[in-house]
Amino acid sequence: MLQTLPHALRVPDTLQILHECETPEVLLLHDVLAANIQAMQQRAVGQGLELWPHVKTHKCLEIARMQLHAGAAGLTASKPDEALIFLKAGLGPLLLAYPVLDPRKLDRVLKAAGPTRVLCILDSPEGAASLAAAAERHDRELEVCIKIDVGLGRCGLRPTDPALPHLARTVAELAPDNSSRHGLRLVGLLSHAGQAYGAADYQGVALVAEEERRLMLQARETVCQATQRPLPSLRLSVGSTPTVLAAPSYEGIDDIRPGNYVFLDRGALRLGLASSAEVALWVLARVVSGNKAHLIIDAGAKTLALDLGAQGSGDNDFGFGLAWQLSPNAGLEPLQVVRLSEEHGFVARPAHMDVPLGALLAVLPNHACPVANLAERFLVFGAPDGTTFWSVDARAKVR
Ligand code: PLP
Repeated sequence: MLQTLPHALRVPDTLQILHECETPEVLLLHDVLAANIQAMQQRAVGQGLELWPHVKTHKCLEIARMQLHAGAAGLTASKPDEALIFLKAGLGPLLLAYPVLDPRKLDRVLKAAGPTRVLCILDSPEGAASLAAAAERHDRELEVCIKIDVGLGRCGLRPTDPALPHLARTVAELAPDNSSRHGLRLVGLLSHAGQAYGAADYQGVALVAEEERRLMLQARETVCQATQRPLPSLRLSVGSTPTVLAAPSYEGIDDIRPGNYVFLDRGALRLGLASSAEVALWVLARVVSGNKAHLIIDAGAKTLALDLGAQGSGDNDFGFGLAWQLSPNAGLEPLQVVRLSEEHGFVARPAHMDVPLGALLAVLPNHACPVANLAERFLVFGAPDGTTFWSVDARAKVR
C-alpha cells in the first residue's frame, strides 16, 4: 500500500510551527491520538469487552489519563517500576502483565498500590509461591491470571500442557481460607499473540487472532475442569494491537489489552491495519550532512530504535523508517531510512529531488513503542491547551 504523509503534516500553519522545533523531537498529533483512543474504546464497548490498554507503549501519565477518561477499565503495565509510575499518580486499577518472581519488586508495587486494585500474572509454581508470599506480607488478597502461550513461545503454558491443570490446582490451593485474609484469587487467563507481527498481511493476523481465541477457550475449559469451577468465573484477557484490530470474533473473550494502537506505526501499516493518517507518533529530524548516497539526519538508533518491526519480524530490506520532507513543495513519495548509527540516520538520497541541508523531515518509525521509551518528552501538537510538551514519565523503567 502506498503511504503518504498525513494531511495534518501538510498544513502550512503546522509546518511553520514545526520548522521552529529543535530536532530530533518525537511529535504527537493530539487529534490523531485522541481519535485512536476513542476508536479502540468504541470497539471494546461495541463488543462488550473491557479495555485494559497497555501503557508500555507511551509510558506517559497524560495519555493514561486520556485512556481512563475515555472509559478504559484499567491499565496494563509490563515491568513493576513502570507500574509504580502510574500507581503513584493514583491511576488504576492496574494489571502487571509480566511474570514477577523478585519479592522486592512485588513489595514496591503493593506498597505503592495501597487500596488500588492490582492484578498479577504467573506461569509457574514458583511464580504462584512468590505472589502468595507477597500477598501474605501485605496481608491482602491478590488477584492473579495464569499466562497462556498461544504461539509466541515466550511466557505461559500451552493449553494442552499437563502442567496447566496442575498449576491451576496449585493456585486454587493458595486461595484465602477462613483462617487468613491473604492469598491468591484466580480471576482469569491471559495471552499475548505477539507472533501476529510476523504475519504477512491482515488476513494472516486475523488467523492468529482466531487461533488465540480458540486456544484461550480450550485453556479455560481445562482450568475450570481442574479446579471444579464454572466457565464464566474465569475471565479471558487477550491483547496485541494487530490481533485486536483484525479479530473476526471476540466471542468468549472478556478483556483486551492493546498498547500500540494509541500511536500506530509502520508495523501496523505493513499489516494493512491502519493508514498513515491514523499514525499519531512521528519523529522530527533534520538533514545535517550528506554524501552522494545518503542524506544524513540527526535521528539515529538512540531516537528511532534499531527495531525491524515489533518482535524483530521485519523483512531484511525493510529499513528503519519512512521519511518525508516537511515542505509545501516536497514530494509525496517517502524516502527510506536505510541505516542507523547511534546519532545519525542514513536516508537514501532521492534521484529526482533536491533536499537541502537543514531540511526538516518527519519519520514514520517501524515500531513506536521503543521510540517513546527513548524520548524524554513528546512534542504534542494541537493539545487542548495548545502545542505543549508531555513527559515520558516511565521511560527506561525496565526493572
Ligand atoms: N499484553 C502483553 C502481555 C504484551 O506483551 C503486549 C505487548 O508487547 C501487549 C499486551 C500489547 O500489544 P501491542 O504492543 O501489540 O499493542
